[in-house]
Amino acid sequence: GEPEIVVAQCIGCVKCVKVCPAQALEVVFTEEEKRILEQLARESGADAEDGDPEARALAAKLAAYRGVWVFVEQTEGEPARVSWELMGKGRELADTLGVPLSAVVIGSHVEELCYHSFCYGADQAYLVDEPVFRHYRTEAYLKAVCRLIENYQPEIVLMGATGLGRDLAGAVATVVGTGLTADCTGLGIDDRRNLMQTRPAFGGNIMATIMCDKFRPQMATVRPHVMPLPERVEGKSGPVIRVASGVKEEEMLTKVLAVVSDRNRDHVDVAGAEFIVSGGRGMMGKENFVLLQELADELGGVVGASRSAVDAGWMPHERQVGQTGKTVRPKIYIACGISGAIQHLVGMQDSDLIIAINRDPDAPIFEVAHLGIVGDLFQVVPALTERLRSLKQ
Ligand code: FAD
Repeated sequence: GEPEIVVAQCIGCVKCVKVCPAQALEVVFTEEEKRILEQLARESGADAEDGDPEARALAAKLAAYRGVWVFVEQTEGEPARVSWELMGKGRELADTLGVPLSAVVIGSHVEELCYHSFCYGADQAYLVDEPVFRHYRTEAYLKAVCRLIENYQPEIVLMGATGLGRDLAGAVATVVGTGLTADCTGLGIDDRRNLMQTRPAFGGNIMATIMCDKFRPQMATVRPHVMPLPERVEGKSGPVIRVASGVKEEEMLTKVLAVVSDRNRDHVDVAGAEFIVSGGRGMMGKENFVLLQELADELGGVVGASRSAVDAGWMPHERQVGQTGKTVRPKIYIACGISGAIQHLVGMQDSDLIIAINRDPDAPIFEVAHLGIVGDLFQVVPALTERLRSLKQ
């Protein structure tokens, strides 16, 4: 039923307001009640919260965790760019909190990545370097990260929302018994030193800021290209803390026998492209995407798509831009026949320059576009391509 405050029994502790999962309760005091509460607080020599032994125990537990960590993802020693993007955000958070920023490097022969981490802003690095970590396996990496967390107690752990990061972050959060916010688009610190983790919710229609204020570490994943890449400063150094994992190969249930690359995959990297020409339902058919490819070729870019175009089978899913596709931040994003649904916008609105071509002047894409062309894309796109070609000659 409806939550309700039984006024006759209420002592004004407002605990019910704090624990109500629906945030449906509110306690409003009269001036007289406020005066009595203040007097009681003065007499007990502390404010209500400090006096609460539970709150004190929680504050002490949380305070034991300090520092911001960024997990440095690598494949065969090659770092994932998203790790450096997170290093930039991690630096900001660590500076706000006044704590060190640490890189967590796990792998085999990967010490070099610690030095790259310093160049991207880390103060120090935890290094777990053993042959058992040559290939990613959940159980091995999980044990290593959990041991690090147990020993060094960070307050924040960030990972890239890649296949590997999503797998590892979920497993770690479960084992250490803390919260995890996946696919954050914004991270900040509130006035109580908690991490504010912002991400789209309810199909992208609202932005939710999620807090993990009773458990540590606070864990978040962020998709590639959501945070800007910080500037790399050469010649930086810092302490490397070597940690033995205690993970034994013979205890591993999974063995990597061979690594086979998927040749049939679409190898165009939409997320990393500097110029993207995307098509939506307005393209009317698969065959028309050649118009976009021609324009993209002139720009030295790639072709992307809205979900409608992907669902229609005109483009592979790897090209989809948006909430359930890739997040992109190219120098130029040209949206052709795309209406500008919020789920598309969240994937491209941070592009440096957005150009929209749509025959509907009221299409929402024009609200985020820096330049808008109201017209038929079948005329506008070839004209743009032609113009670029003639400029080059
Ligand atoms: P439409 O909305 O149909 O727009 C077509 C546009 O083309 C219109 O504005 C029209 O005016 C214009 N047009 C038509 N003909 C021409 C012409 N000749 N010249 C110029 N303009 C023309 N969408 C994504 O894109 N990415 C996602 O990741 C994504 N994730 C989603 C996740 C969830 C949970 C949900 C519910 C939806 C998601 N969507 C996503 C779908 C999204 O809501 C929209 O349905 C989709 O983006 C619409 O695609 P569109 O703009 O191509 O098509």
